[in-house]
Amino acid sequence: MKYYDQHLHTDFSYDSEESFERYLEAFSGFIVTTEHFDLANPVTGEDNIPDYLAYTQKVDQLNQKFDNRILKGIEIGYFAGEKQRTLDYLDDKDYDLKLLSVHHNGVFDYLDDFVASMDYNEIIPQYLAKLTEAIDSIPANVLAHFDYGFRLFDLSVHDLKRYETQLIDVFKASIEHNLAFEINAKSAYLYHNLTLYDYAIDLYRSLGGKRFTIGSDGHKLEHFRLHFDELINLAKEKGIKQLATYQKGQVKMVDI
Ligand SMILES: [Zn+2]
Ligand SMILES: [Zn+2]
Repeated sequence: MKYYDQHLHTDFSYDSEESFERYLEAFSGFIVTTEHFDLANPVTGEDNIPDYLAYTQKVDQLNQKFDNRILKGIEIGYFAGEKQRTLDYLDDKDYDLKLLSVHHNGVFDYLDDFVASMDYNEIIPQYLAKLTEAIDSIPANVLAHFDYGFRLFDLSVHDLKRYETQLIDVFKASIEHNLAFEINAKSAYLYHNLTLYDYAIDLYRSLGGKRFTIGSDGHKLEHFRLHFDELINLAKEKGIKQLATYQKGQVKMVDI
């Protein structure tokens, strides 16, 4: 089976206008979308919740037309102040794949423009602490874009290593909760963090982590499966022989 994208958005996400159909026409394998769930989102000033009923109906309808190739997913943006509402929302929903992210701290999103001029020595420890808390709080399948909180800083591996102790805490929690580590194509190529991923993959493996996914984090067709061949080669070079996919929340390892 051709490895399929494990992080993708359609117009069921507040910040995407892409349609399911265009991804389905561009690729012959499985399509799983991971729509944004971000409560108290400072970007929009509201709760952003994918319409589960409409989403489920759309997936069911497309599955009839496209040979059962569509899986359901969600990208859970964790915010401590909304932990209970998040758990309550997820309680009666069925997803094939759940990504776990931290996008904001209640005041700003880590991709807001002004964050680039903030001191990363303040932002990174705060962000990593929230990641560990998210992992300990919300059951999910994949730790998405571990670097989201510092995408806007031009960090070298040397810079990031100053936070290695805290990063190890994040990764240990992630491994303990059976989360896969996501290799995020948008971070690697559009935010130029490939070297940070190279380092983080090795660190994750050195701690016993065995599950990895590749996700484009595409919000439009142009970014779908972005640089997938290169990222699959990177995984192979590191001795990773299988990547994780998810169906009904169960991991399925796929040879690469
Ligand atoms: Zn995200
Ligand atoms: Zn995303």
